[in-house]
Amino acid sequence: MHEVSLIESVVALVEDERRKQDFSRVRSIRLRLGALGHAEPEALRFCFDAVTRGTVADGARLDIDIVPGEGWCSGCSRIVALAERFGACPICGGAPVRMTAGDELRVSEMEVE
Ligand SMILES: [Zn+2]
Repeated sequence: MHEVSLIESVVALVEDERRKQDFSRVRSIRLRLGALGHAEPEALRFCFDAVTRGTVADGARLDIDIVPGEGWCSGCSRIVALAERFGACPICGGAPVRMTAGDELRVSEMEVE
């Protein structure tokens, strides 16, 4: 499952951080997930517990913020809402709108102790 490797990369990042900061466990991890990305929040939650078991993130709470899709429309010369990848502009109907947000997956916050 694709989401497993995404969570594995989050755990790798947390392990890296521990080498710098020296904490014993992670209380919570907050992710920013693009609405137009390839990962489903439910699937991320589903595999989070299994993937983090035995790691420094074992038992951590997972919070997911969904980042809405946005793109630059050259017809309107502005940022518009984007409901799907390679979607047309909702205002002028022009395409393609160049996606500027909605494709990310990153850790925005981490609570450690
Ligand atoms: Zn437009």
